[in-house]
Amino acid sequence: MTADQYDVIIIGTGPAALGAAFHLSDNNPAISILMIDKEPVCSGGLLNDCKQNYSYPIGFAEECWTREEAERLLPLVERKLQPVFKEKMNLETYRKRAERVGVELFDVRQAHVGTDRSRLLIRRLMDELADRGVQVMLRREVTDVREERESALITLDDGRTPRAGAVVVAPGRKGFAFLQRVMEQLGVEYVDNILDVGIRVETRLENYPIVRDYYDPKFYFPDRVRTFCTNSGQARVALERYGEFSLVNGHALSSENNGNGLVNFALLKTIGLKDPVRSGHQMALILGRLANEIGGGRPLMQRVGDFRMGKRSTAETFNDDLYSFRPTCPVTAGDLGLAVPAKIMRHIWAAMKKLDTIVPGVLHPSTIMYYPEIKMYANKPAFLDSHFRVTPHIYMVGDGAGVSRGITGAWASGIRAAEGIFEGKR
Ligand SMILES: Cc1cc2nc3c(=O)[nH]c(=O)nc-3n(C[C@H](O)[C@H](O)[C@H](O)COP(=O)(O)OP(=O)(O)OC[C@H]3O[C@@H](n4cnc5c(N)ncnc54)[C@H](O)[C@@H]3O)c2cc1C
Repeated sequence: MTADQYDVIIIGTGPAALGAAFHLSDNNPAISILMIDKEPVCSGGLLNDCKQNYSYPIGFAEECWTREEAERLLPLVERKLQPVFKEKMNLETYRKRAERVGVELFDVRQAHVGTDRSRLLIRRLMDELADRGVQVMLRREVTDVREERESALITLDDGRTPRAGAVVVAPGRKGFAFLQRVMEQLGVEYVDNILDVGIRVETRLENYPIVRDYYDPKFYFPDRVRTFCTNSGQARVALERYGEFSLVNGHALSSENNGNGLVNFALLKTIGLKDPVRSGHQMALILGRLANEIGGGRPLMQRVGDFRMGKRSTAETFNDDLYSFRPTCPVTAGDLGLAVPAKIMRHIWAAMKKLDTIVPGVLHPSTIMYYPEIKMYANKPAFLDSHFRVTPHIYMVGDGAGVSRGITGAWASGIRAAEGIFEGKR
């Protein structure tokens, strides 16, 4: 191989990229791999809370996976990430309560690393890849990906153009626009019609004590609303910057830290846009911009007590009387009703009421609802095969390509691409 020629180039160092790199080097130690990331360390969920879900369909885009396929690969993911599973208690009690109000509670095998310890996990994984001779280029952005006759070629932001027999593109959700541009240049058709829109709820631990029994309870409500990414212990709501606006998210430190007595989780509604849809991504941008416009450049937060009374929350009264805990992410106190589309708000509020009958307390007046939390999973390329190949030498995997929705699913999608690369060589 010449200096700029590899067997495989992988764009990204998130879980999808790692899944591909480990599987390729496990099965062919001599393979030459270059991984590239524009960040100094891989971003996304591995770097943040790093909750790992090992039960299908959590974290998998169901239209791209069968249960058998996911369950075949999850043990391989587990072997690399070495999770320490959380115990669950009283599941039957919660499940019965949920069933009575038409809600499903999934029993998920879960592990949690925590934002403070995830860097250690990432270091272990990256050191292992370095020992195998995988080259990693950090702080380097890929600006272009092209198909050539016998290979694929990428362009880096310093002008270099390395080539490879296969390129795995795994840029995550933040690489959404990059991926769309690449697909358009390659002439790969894609649909962009699904997105998740919702709120992040923050409340006192005593108002959502289920987290003592089940770390990240997965409730599925009617109208495609679900709980997502629950954090407790030392739990915080966080801002995620997307170009000119911010979205909310949440994370928690590992169990080695003292708790702050708070819990946060998302309630998300999946929206499937239909004809004459133009773009789920555009809709996400419009909703994100609108909320940030109303919030004076930041997301919004509202106490449940104010929301119920049809009043906006204000900075002056945000911590008065019953509103007894301070927000961990003090954004703009306001009125969600002005920013959230009515149908989405109605379905999310109905889910909140059902949740309050399953875990009484969550609708305490002090509970805070933050908006917007939006997940753009929608970039679904037209794949040529079950290995997420989009052109003869290019594969697209992970959350950016809409085939996963979490760490374990993303990792498994990388394995599927790696299997395709080996299959192509036979
Ligand atoms: C704050 C936060 C917390 C989360 N917590 C969890 C959790 O606890 N559990 C869970 O299962 N999921 C969680 N997620 C979701 C999880 O991060 C994703 O499902 C998962 O990381 C997707 O993996 P991926 O490899 O597809 O993308 P990513 O992990 O996003 O990795 C993509 C990588 O590609 C790089 N990249 C993008 N474009 C380019 C380019 N043009 N050139 C070079 N590099 C590029 C990015 O810098 C990034 O490092 C969280 C997400 C966020 C944002």
